[in-house]
Amino acid sequence: MQLQEISFAPRILATLTMKVCLLLLWVISFAAHAAPALDVGGPQVRLTDFPVGYLVDDSQPMNYEAAREQAYAPTDSTPAPGTGASVTWHRIALNNSGAEAKALFLHMPAAFQVRGVTIYEERSQRLVGQAEVDLNSARDNELMHRGTIVYPFSVPAGETTVLYIRSQLYSHQWFEAEIYDDKHSRQALAAGAHLDIALLVGMMLALVFYNGLLYLATSKKENILYSLYLISGVVWIALSYGLIAQAFNVYGDAVFILNLSVFTMPIFLVLFMMVIFETREFYVTEHRILQGLLALLVAGFCYGLFDIEGALIPASSLAALMMVTTLSVSVSIWRKGNPLVKFFLVGHSFFIVFNAFAVLFYKGLMEPNYFNSYGVGIGIVMEAITLAFIISYRIKLLEEIRTQQDELKRQAATDPLTQLYNRRYFVAEGESLAEQARTLGVPLSVITLDIDHFKAVNDTYGHHAGDLVLKAVAGNLQAFSRDRDLVARFGGEEFVILLPGADRGEAERCAERIRGGVEGDVVQAADKVSIRVTVSLGVAQVNTAAESVEEAVNRADKALYTAKTGGRNRVCCAT
Ligand code: GH3
Ligand code: MG
Ligand code: MG
Repeated sequence: MQLQEISFAPRILATLTMKVCLLLLWVISFAAHAAPALDVGGPQVRLTDFPVGYLVDDSQPMNYEAAREQAYAPTDSTPAPGTGASVTWHRIALNNSGAEAKALFLHMPAAFQVRGVTIYEERSQRLVGQAEVDLNSARDNELMHRGTIVYPFSVPAGETTVLYIRSQLYSHQWFEAEIYDDKHSRQALAAGAHLDIALLVGMMLALVFYNGLLYLATSKKENILYSLYLISGVVWIALSYGLIAQAFNVYGDAVFILNLSVFTMPIFLVLFMMVIFETREFYVTEHRILQGLLALLVAGFCYGLFDIEGALIPASSLAALMMVTTLSVSVSIWRKGNPLVKFFLVGHSFFIVFNAFAVLFYKGLMEPNYFNSYGVGIGIVMEAITLAFIISYRIKLLEEIRTQQDELKRQAATDPLTQLYNRRYFVAEGESLAEQARTLGVPLSVITLDIDHFKAVNDTYGHHAGDLVLKAVAGNLQAFSRDRDLVARFGGEEFVILLPGADRGEAERCAERIRGGVEGDVVQAADKVSIRVTVSLGVAQVNTAAESVEEAVNRADKALYTAKTGGRNRVCCAT
């Protein structure tokens, strides 16, 4: 009640005033020994908020004769009597002060939630009409209009009609009564489509679809758990707010079992928390607490499979426990520094605030209003949107980690000056390329390269100019080799290229292209300082059946030495 008192102070005043008025009305009615009758003598009848007499019949099943003799407590036309009531009676008295008889319609828009309704129409202490709707066969009942019971009755001029409505409930009372004339009855039925709820459901189904796609793309468990949470939420919302009744015209036990979603929703939410916060690995205490909660929820679910009515009685209390537990666990994980949980806390707070209102309403502690009667639905949607954000945020975090790892891997494999592969990577990758060539039976060749008189470049122009030359040579190596070739800086001013699929002749032509490229290249080291270098290259075809890449590199090196001794700026092939 605290919450209600803080945020609904004006409301509670209004409610209190109304209660006092109703109490007065009740006292007066007893004094006068007559029921307060609503006047329907005016030209238009459109009653949606009016006093109603109310009686709980839990001890022994009363018949109409017995029920009409009872004292009825005053309440309004949308009462919230809470859990525990299984059979209730409502009494509505209508007086026609006008000159013409009135043909009216009693609407019960929340009728899809109950198990059975019997209406008794009384005039001058005599039963003049009676109708029964068994929700298990309501599909064929002519009083049932897409979840709303519509009972036609009349009030002759100058007379009073009293309606006694007996509802048999599942676990909670969902009584709602409206009285209309023909025109307004039609209007109410036409406007009955729950557009806002349909919108929520549509949005959540879109999220389910989106997460299904995400799961296909990433195979992450959280997307599935989140989707299952959403589906449970959708089922519950569609069921509780009449969408299923309206869309499919089904009621009673057949759909009441769908209330199991009240258990599956928190079950999947808790599982989602476990996965997304990795509680098993990082938050052991919180994990145990969540496991305990999960056990209770699963027990409730299993019980509900056999007796959903019985299972729903403690459901509100279980929901309250679930809210307190998940909130405490999230706060605890947040204090331990998890980066995701703050978003979860925001979404979860919406869920908790709206659900708290709903629980107060279901328990009969709070008068119904849009927010508490739609509280669970609004809470689910708010939370769902936040969870969607968490999922994408987590993808972003994981993506960042992967990029960092990729970058580290790349750094470990490349030479920082030329951005070519380094020797370590060349050796590892070279052996697997040799293995491929061996199994495919394709040739594999290697070129080694050494810059001519490079020491002189350093000595004449400085080390920095030497580095520029190294980069320029690396550029030529890449420009004149193919994408699939493995180009590496072996160390100093020595380079190696491994050419998959190339025999000695092709490798020699490639080496010649590189030699020519470097020879024609001019390196601009500083203003007016242009450096030209040449390179000597050795070529060898790897004998994949008999030697390693390293051995072939050694043979190419020998050919390179021949090129050096033969006058440099040339290509020599190993025999
Ligand atoms: P040769 O034609 O016989 O190959 O003559 P050379 O001067 O190139 O002889 P050598 O291969 O022995 O010279 C290697 C030189 O490369 C020595 C060293 O100063 C230089 N060097 C090695 N690594 C680097 C580097 O990273 N940057 C620069 N600027 N110079 C380097
Ligand atoms: Mg050298
Ligand atoms: Mg050299």
